[in-house]
Amino acid sequence: MLVVAVPERLLNERLVEFGTTIFAEMSALAMATGAINLGQGFPDTDGPQEVADAAVAAIRAGHNQYPPGLGIADLRRAVAEHQKRFYDLDFDPDTEVLVTAGATEAIAAAMLSLLAPGDEVVLFEPYYDSHIAGIAMAGAQRRLVTLRPPRYRFDPDELAAAIGSRTRMIVVNSPHNPTGKVFDRSELELIAELCRRHDLLAVTDEVYEHLAYDGEHIPLATLPGMRERTISVSSAGKTFSFTGWKIGWVCAAPELRDAVTAAKQFLTFVNGAPFQHAVAVGLRLGDDYFAGLRAGLMARRNQLTDGLAAAGFEVYRPAGTYFATADVRPLGFDDGMALCRRLPELCGVVAVPSVAFYDDEDEGRHLVRFAFCKRPEVLDEAAERLARLGVGP
Ligand code: GLN
Repeated sequence: MLVVAVPERLLNERLVEFGTTIFAEMSALAMATGAINLGQGFPDTDGPQEVADAAVAAIRAGHNQYPPGLGIADLRRAVAEHQKRFYDLDFDPDTEVLVTAGATEAIAAAMLSLLAPGDEVVLFEPYYDSHIAGIAMAGAQRRLVTLRPPRYRFDPDELAAAIGSRTRMIVVNSPHNPTGKVFDRSELELIAELCRRHDLLAVTDEVYEHLAYDGEHIPLATLPGMRERTISVSSAGKTFSFTGWKIGWVCAAPELRDAVTAAKQFLTFVNGAPFQHAVAVGLRLGDDYFAGLRAGLMARRNQLTDGLAAAGFEVYRPAGTYFATADVRPLGFDDGMALCRRLPELCGVVAVPSVAFYDDEDEGRHLVRFAFCKRPEVLDEAAERLARLGVGP
């Protein structure tokens, strides 16, 4: 799957299948070649000035020592207000919210605290890499259900068949990275029904919650019987375009929140005190901010997908997130990994080979993911460069 750069005998066997992440590898390639980086998903402009100002003010006000283990009270309140305002979900900021070092830590902590070696976790393929790494670090096993383009709907029978007597948890990432799929209500109802029937826990990754263009984002916890069994995870990185701040959160029933905290306290302990103050300001921004973020990225989705189509790719227009997937075969290539490694030299662009998100390499071999969270002029330039691929040297 990924390149293993550490000698296997050094590495804990649970991590042997994981090398350098594909994002680090492709960003390093972009740095080394000066290519336009449409690989790793991070914006090339900063988020709202007032949120940045709030971080500076928090540093100047002396919020520079360890914050409380659960996160500062004001941010936990702001998270609870956000869940109420957008989804009509009620969470108690004191007993049901935990601040984490991004969604990645939240998900790892959920898996480390709630899974036992030998447990099975069901999730969808293509997967986000940290989800399967969290499962592996917990000593659990993954069971995958494949989402296929163009619509990336799952087969309900396949999902039901993936659940067995060892299944403890299902992971639902919506809007979904890398496909951009937004799970609709009927799909979430099927998932919820299986969770209730088999008494499963659910972990959600909702970091692209404000980036749903076609269809709406529906938190799994809003479905009947799901609030008490769902660990809902989200973060500030994508919503406020400050991916380097690494502030995320968990909302869950008290016993689940406390379980996740038990692992989290020994991962990072706490993080980002001044940024926690700033994210509380961000979460309370007016509706126009959230609508503007979505509208801006939707326009860039259209721009990039039009550009990729004009360059000759078969492109699957994503319903959400800031990633678009393209099939490279119409351009005469068949191996996305090989193409991505040569793309800087061929045309000065970096993308991510989707095969890194699949166990079944045949399903993802010919797919490549492009990030469109970049300035319009950068996307235009990238599309122009990619158009050269089809015309040859
Ligand atoms: N979430 C980012 C992406 O999908 C990557 C973050 C990372 O590098 N771990 O591109």
